Amino acid sequence: MKKVLIFSAPSGAGKSTIVNHLLGLFPQLEFSVSATSRAPRGDEQDGREYYFLSAEEFARRVDAGDFLEWEEVYKGSRYGTLRSELDRIWSKGNVATFDIDVKGGLNIKRLLGDKAMSVFIMPPSVEELRRRLEKRGTDTGEAIDKRVAKAESEISFAQYYDKVIVNDSLDKALAEAEEAVGTFIGIS
Ligand code: ADP
Ligand code: 5GP
Repeated sequence: MKKVLIFSAPSGAGKSTIVNHLLGLFPQLEFSVSATSRAPRGDEQDGREYYFLSAEEFARRVDAGDFLEWEEVYKGSRYGTLRSELDRIWSKGNVATFDIDVKGGLNIKRLLGDKAMSVFIMPPSVEELRRRLEKRGTDTGEAIDKRVAKAESEISFAQYYDKVIVNDSLDKALAEAEEAVGTFIGIS
């Protein structure tokens, strides 16, 4: 069956750590690359982090019905999942794996139903989330404040996910994630 795995979490909860571990462990999982109309940042490459489209090209492909879902996540910047990306991954027999915000994640789950398993990575507390972001050292104080403020509202959507994994002990969270993914993709 054509399947997808959706991971969402407030920034700093440990989603990248967990998703990267799973991608390394299960060769069937393949990261789904979204399309965006924003410009590449840093050393981002077309087809690796995103498919970078001009605003006009993005709009044309929306009109053509090429997207499974799309959103204007930030003013003037659109992000979306191309149907062709899912077909590319499914044609190899792989499971499309999404690292996506709650709105996009719940949209995909609603559209794909039982083909999808949605997983919310929950921090043990908002205070711990802040400590992890401070320790990671990749964001300014102001950016950390913004991410933490957004976390409360993101956490309120956890109840709509198929599975919630609390990332307190990382070993435990990884074991729980492995078990859930293994069962979903049919290896246990
Ligand atoms: P996200 O992708 O959700 O923003 P990361 O995977 O980058 O989060 O994790 C945020 C920081 O917290 C990283 O420095 C990571 O090494 C650390 N981290 C992840 N899981 C745990 C954990 N269970 N306990 C302590 N630190 C953790
Ligand atoms: P970035 O920091 O990469 O510019 O912003 C990424 C934001 O866009 C995140 O909130 C991310 O979850 C969201 N995003 C990335 N890809 C998609 C997508 O395919 N669809 C939707 N709806 N949102 C996406």
